[in-house]
Amino acid sequence: MTDEPEVLDVRGGDEPQLAVVGCVHGDEPCGELAMRRFLDEGRDLRTPTAFVVANPRACRRGVGHVDENLNRAFPGDPGGESYEGRLAASLLRAVGDCRVLDLHSTHSYPDPFVLVPRVDGRTLRLAAATGISKVVDIGHVSGGLIDHVDGVAVECGLTGTVRAAENAYEILTEFLASLGALDEPASGLETPPEIYHVFDAVEGSGYEVDATNFERVEAGEAFARRGGDVLTADEPFFPVLMSEEGYEGLVGFKALRVKRVADMDPEA
Ligand SMILES: [Zn+2]
Repeated sequence: MTDEPEVLDVRGGDEPQLAVVGCVHGDEPCGELAMRRFLDEGRDLRTPTAFVVANPRACRRGVGHVDENLNRAFPGDPGGESYEGRLAASLLRAVGDCRVLDLHSTHSYPDPFVLVPRVDGRTLRLAAATGISKVVDIGHVSGGLIDHVDGVAVECGLTGTVRAAENAYEILTEFLASLGALDEPASGLETPPEIYHVFDAVEGSGYEVDATNFERVEAGEAFARRGGDVLTADEPFFPVLMSEEGYEGLVGFKALRVKRVADMDPEA
């Protein structure tokens, strides 16, 4: 096996301008399932689009990664020690010039939400193209694929569920329709975008999460516990990607709700 991503196909022309990516985390099968379903339908594409399994070795083994988290390994190193480090570099060579939709799943939340590396007109337009209103600015956490390409990531639902794979299929179809690659109308956003800005990570493992993701936790409220060890909020926040399992050494993230894009610190 090589240290290259597995390109399932390129449709609509030879030089991809769009890329759908799945299995950056090898234990999140929804993206690959959705891409294979879409490709099996044999629909015509008007824009050259690549369909890519990012981490084939981890994917075949059903594990998150082989040497390190691929989504913390970018930009990577073609001659590096770790498989994911080399893979990160080759994945950027493959999709670096494309607008990218990166499909993931979580242990934290059943409904889809979009991750953007920062909030600006370009990322918000790509986020809207997914048809999902919930948008999380994850710029606080660096090293992800979307930090290095013109793209967004989507958490499609709970890992290993049929629903996550169905959501992933609908999201990729909507994304391609919104960007004009499919000859069919996009559905568009049902509600205006709801933007969350991640400002802090909560470290620890084995915590049971009491809080519900995207539901405000008030100052003084207990939001996670491990035996007698209780985590209490110093200040109000919205939990994002918080779950007992999922991230090594991390309970999840704290976010603020952004009322208007103008409220964002442009340097943040
Ligand atoms: Zn993932």
